[in-house]
Amino acid sequence: MDIPSLSIDSLREGLRSHNFSAVELATAALGHAEKENPATNAYLSFCPERALDAARRVDEKIARGEDPGPLGGVPVAVKDVILTKGVRTTCGSKLLANYIPPYDATAVIRLEQAGGVIIGKTNCDEFAMGSSNENSAFGPVRNPVDTDRVPGGSSGGSAAVVAQGTAVVSLGSDTGGSIRQPASFCGVVGVTPTYGRVSRYGLTAFASSLDHIGPLARNVRDSARLLAVIAGRDEMDSTSAFAPVPDYETALDGDIRGLRIGLPKEYFQGLASETGDLIARGVNVLKSLGAEVREISLPATEYAIACYYIICTAEASSNLARYDGVRYTSRADSAESLTGMYRSTRGEGFGAECKRRIMLGTYVLSAGYYDAYYLKAQKVRALIARDFENAFGHVDAIVAPVSPFPAFKIGEKINDPLAMYLSDIYTITGDLAGIPCMSVPCGRTGAGLPVGMQILTKHFAEATMFRVAHAFESARDF
Ligand code: GLN
Repeated sequence: MDIPSLSIDSLREGLRSHNFSAVELATAALGHAEKENPATNAYLSFCPERALDAARRVDEKIARGEDPGPLGGVPVAVKDVILTKGVRTTCGSKLLANYIPPYDATAVIRLEQAGGVIIGKTNCDEFAMGSSNENSAFGPVRNPVDTDRVPGGSSGGSAAVVAQGTAVVSLGSDTGGSIRQPASFCGVVGVTPTYGRVSRYGLTAFASSLDHIGPLARNVRDSARLLAVIAGRDEMDSTSAFAPVPDYETALDGDIRGLRIGLPKEYFQGLASETGDLIARGVNVLKSLGAEVREISLPATEYAIACYYIICTAEASSNLARYDGVRYTSRADSAESLTGMYRSTRGEGFGAECKRRIMLGTYVLSAGYYDAYYLKAQKVRALIARDFENAFGHVDAIVAPVSPFPAFKIGEKINDPLAMYLSDIYTITGDLAGIPCMSVPCGRTGAGLPVGMQILTKHFAEATMFRVAHAFESARDF
């Protein structure tokens, strides 16, 4: 069974025609993933019992002549910030190294109800803070395309397992680019849906007003299938949207003739030249398919990094306050007083990046600085969202780079947090505005490093975004 090249539909066909059973598939996928994992460190845990139980249910359905569901039998990996009942969920943190959640995230429940088979949990930056996966307490993930390089972050493990072919699809999370940037670095498709499209129940909170769960896949159709499965209103997340979930897959087959596509001029400054060339080639493909391409302006972009790193750290400082050594986490036992216990638990447990963000966030929320930083950042966030609203008055979709450069070397930026933050420049705006955005592979550099092209649309216009991505994927010449 050639798991690395399988798509969801080829798997379903194999199961339907009894070429293999779901249990055989899960067993093969687990074996393959465990064998390949030392090369990338992309999985933090495997869950064979859970996988085989899910696979058995799929086989029983098939035996009864029932539809096993849109993901029937598909081996899936889940980022380790998404809770899985009874299966260790570390958030990439030493603090949660032994944490076993008592419940499942809604996205996980829906995935299994649709027949998905979760085989393991993927490595990530600690509490999803990072752009390289080097902030994991369990060691960095290596990019399967070039193991000296980072896979991107924070969903680096989720992108790597799909690129490596040790899972067919995976779930990641995106607060400022953490699905799209690793997808771009590893050469896979990554989707950040509209804020509220997918329930955040059971997603460990980093910055609640920016956090999203979304799919990573080897092709656009599989990513659309997975999104349709996990999307939709959930009573357990009051920010989840009531809007009905359209059939994204039927939308894939439309053409893009006459579709108006905007290229934001602010997103094409400071790009590595090969990245710029590949995006330009991608845009030409879209033109050849009949799209009308025009330049647009998103003038508030220059404030996006500052705005994002104020809002996300403010929210993170509040969300991470719960890891106090009393609940959830390991506890430092050296302390003599309650405050001392808090201090040593948090001091020993959090990595450098989390501490940096807790301090920054606490500062921007503190009396005397709140108006100058946090409140101002909220106003700038509204301006960034308004830029997109204005643009979508004239265009149906926006096309841009995902990252200014391709995958960099492990260690290259680790001592320069600001350089690391700047790599998020083109992705954080979509999260700040809450609009859907995705990365679709658009070629490789001379050194063979993948580059992703970003497609953004207005709120809840995922179907249009998928249509552009699918048309591009079908026409591109590499
Ligand atoms: N790289 C960004 C950060 O470090 C985005 C992370 C994310 O989307 N979770 O915050």
